[in-house]
Amino acid sequence: GVKKFNDVCREKIKEVSDEWGQLIPRFGRWSDMDNPYRTMDKTFMESEWWMFKQLHDKDLVYEDYRSIHICPRCETTLSQSEVAEGYKDIKDLSVTVKFRLREPEEAGLPKDTYLLAWTTTPWTLPGNVALAVGREIEYLHIMNMPDVKKGSDHEFKREHYLVSKEAFNKDAQPLIDGDENNDTFLFKGILVRKTSETIQGKELLGLRYDPPFDSYVNDEKIQNREQSWRVYLADFINTETGTGIAHEAPAFGAEDLELAQEVGLPVIQHLGMDGIIYDEVKELAGLHVKPIEDHQSTDVEVIKYLAGKGLLFSKEKYEHSYPHCWRCDTPLLNYATNSWFVAVEKMKERLLKYADEITWSPGHIKKGRWGNWLEGARDWSISRQRFWANTIPVWRCDECKNTDVFGSIAELKEKSGVEVDDLHKDVVDEVTYKCDCGGEMVRVPDVLDTWFNSGSVPFASYHYPFENKEKVDNRIPADFIAEGTDQTRAWFYYQHILVGGVFEKPAFKNVIVNGMVMAEDGKKMSKKLKNYPDPTLMLDTYGADAIRLYILSSQVVRAEDFNFIEKEAAQVASKVMGRLANVHSFYELYKDSVEHEGNSDSKNVLDRWIIARMHQMHAQVTTAMDSYELDKATRPLGEFVDDLSTWYIRRSRDRLKSDAEALSTLRWVLRKYAKVSAPFTPFIAEWLWSNVKRKDDEESVHLAKWCKGEDADEDLLLMMRQTRLAVEGILFARNMKKIKVRQPLSEVALNADFQLNNEMIEIVKDETNIKEISFYDDRDIITKMRSQKDWYVLHDIGTLQLAIKTVGLNPNITPELKKEGMARDVIRAIQNERKEKNLEIADLATVIVSGSNETLAATHEFKEEIQKQTNTTVENGKEQDEIEVDLTT
Ligand SMILES: [Zn+2]
Ligand SMILES: [Zn+2]
Repeated sequence: GVKKFNDVCREKIKEVSDEWGQLIPRFGRWSDMDNPYRTMDKTFMESEWWMFKQLHDKDLVYEDYRSIHICPRCETTLSQSEVAEGYKDIKDLSVTVKFRLREPEEAGLPKDTYLLAWTTTPWTLPGNVALAVGREIEYLHIMNMPDVKKGSDHEFKREHYLVSKEAFNKDAQPLIDGDENNDTFLFKGILVRKTSETIQGKELLGLRYDPPFDSYVNDEKIQNREQSWRVYLADFINTETGTGIAHEAPAFGAEDLELAQEVGLPVIQHLGMDGIIYDEVKELAGLHVKPIEDHQSTDVEVIKYLAGKGLLFSKEKYEHSYPHCWRCDTPLLNYATNSWFVAVEKMKERLLKYADEITWSPGHIKKGRWGNWLEGARDWSISRQRFWANTIPVWRCDECKNTDVFGSIAELKEKSGVEVDDLHKDVVDEVTYKCDCGGEMVRVPDVLDTWFNSGSVPFASYHYPFENKEKVDNRIPADFIAEGTDQTRAWFYYQHILVGGVFEKPAFKNVIVNGMVMAEDGKKMSKKLKNYPDPTLMLDTYGADAIRLYILSSQVVRAEDFNFIEKEAAQVASKVMGRLANVHSFYELYKDSVEHEGNSDSKNVLDRWIIARMHQMHAQVTTAMDSYELDKATRPLGEFVDDLSTWYIRRSRDRLKSDAEALSTLRWVLRKYAKVSAPFTPFIAEWLWSNVKRKDDEESVHLAKWCKGEDADEDLLLMMRQTRLAVEGILFARNMKKIKVRQPLSEVALNADFQLNNEMIEIVKDETNIKEISFYDDRDIITKMRSQKDWYVLHDIGTLQLAIKTVGLNPNITPELKKEGMARDVIRAIQNERKEKNLEIADLATVIVSGSNETLAATHEFKEEIQKQTNTTVENGKEQDEIEVDLTT
């Protein structure tokens, strides 16, 4: 029974909510998990009743008998958007059927004249009640030819056919090409003789014919039998495909039903909503018209039957796009049935106006996928023949057919005297009461389309208007909503209809549309295929923030599909999260070495630069967030951490050990980074904040307000880009000459479309280990390079906006330079040893350096420098080939 079924549904929903309850907070998503709204709750359902009544009072909901798509397996109707989800290309069998005219002489036609009609749904033929032709269309008289394959003793019976002249000319191939007098053609694979006689559609009006199936011809229950199985005129006939003559089965097509209602034809339904043909069609009784295992099987039976009766003109394979059930994949059927509709077309003009106020990300969806859908929207069929759903709040008298529509539990109680505690079918169908006429008021059996629930979320989740009236009135339209591309025609759309229809404004101001996160192989993530990593395991391995940042910075946030590649997630974890953690530990290490605040007023060029970079990044994020472009908002975070770690820290290492300005700057940067990154990487931002925040700061970064940006020093940012390009060019030249960076070199000459000031030149020198760097103009660099024949020269480095024309590198290593290089080798060897012995940076050590004569000499000469950089006391050891350091604490 319905109650048992619904009780199981109630239990099932509890399990699903619990699963989400664990995963959502781990992803750092804020939801009120203790107070989730559920569309099954009484309060939610009552708000939907209220909505239904509002629509009804505004004359925006109605009941009609219409041909709509049904799923025969689910035995329910589907809405336009559900149907749109399931189109697939499939092969079908199409047939051209012969309909024999009973009194052809009435139109001056010979005996044995047939009208040829083409159909892609042979299974609808038993429901045929009429043929339709176009009033002004010309129909050509053609004849059959003896079948030579059957031999000369075969008795030939002459048959005459009518088919639209235009359709014939389009399709028919002359048997002998180029012969003017040829009148033999191959039409739909059948040999025919063409005559010169034509007849207009209007002359065929009213002619009677024999339907291919006679199951209903003598059935007295069929209304208007006299009108049936005749030729009618219709505007929708075209000669593009088929024969220009349409077989009319009003129970299975919207146009057919309209014609039937217009001229008073019966609607013959020869199958139930389960898709199974009734017993009265003896030849096909019990067959399913579109079985999921073999959707052509019943059509094949129909074709066999037609052939046996001599009514098959031809059959052809036909490939077309056909709708399937999104739930169960069964081919859908067009089926005339009673349904309730929301009058979308009636309010479309308003809906389009409200739609104009919405901002979409990505922007193209507004006029594209969404705009087009809305333009073409049809009335929404909201009644379903299912058990577990909200109910249509309409009671009808079984005698006088009078109806009551209820917008609340109280209204129902007032009429029936029963106060229900649940609005599901198993409960409310028990409520009946007496009509004024003495009949029984019973609820109409249908339930509401599940999208009616989803569309009601903005108000029903607050039990509006029974509670929270003011709150909801202020919250509609919502600031923004986010969901997948598929929801353009579903959740976004249905909210827009219900809220637009009754509240008379848009449901939301901004929408972020995401694509699908696919498995690494580009296929849908499937539990069955196990083609994706376990999300809990991903969170454990890389952290929620890395996964968030990886997905947020991808194209999936602009409605495109995206393949989740674990290796790339790992990269984000190490490149962004890992580096940031390293920067932070570096700060922790030295933060107590000197008193500092966390300010942005340093005079040092690198400090000023990282501060400018922060202002720039902050502005990029703010601008992108303001336009709801999440990928553009998140990418600058990773780029900033890269600059911070591989350039600022790298170049400021020494200063950070003891310089108050540097430490103050770094602290300022980390605190600001925590704020800006908080919406994207909430866990790491909070951790960082707790370590670097000021005394009077908010306890949590998530309580802090989004800060106002400051202008970045654009000149400085440009100059640093130029500086880094110069470094890149020089390092590239060094690499080509295979001279390691530890080996100092004397000179580099540059010709670029920019000049660097002294501060910047110092940075380049330091980073590239070059003693002297000079800039030349076009003419001078040629002279310079000509005179320095052994120099290494590189041309054209950089991007279109920023370029170095020439890098000249003096590769000569003088004995002095060589000694200096050796001292650096010693420093490196000592540092490696410190690391090996796990020494803290503050731990003082004594080192005995052994090595070649030259190494020992270099160690002696640069002793002070080596000691300073490695925090050791250095002594020379014995002479040997390899460098060896003996370290004691
Ligand atoms: Zn289905
Ligand atoms: Zn009544």
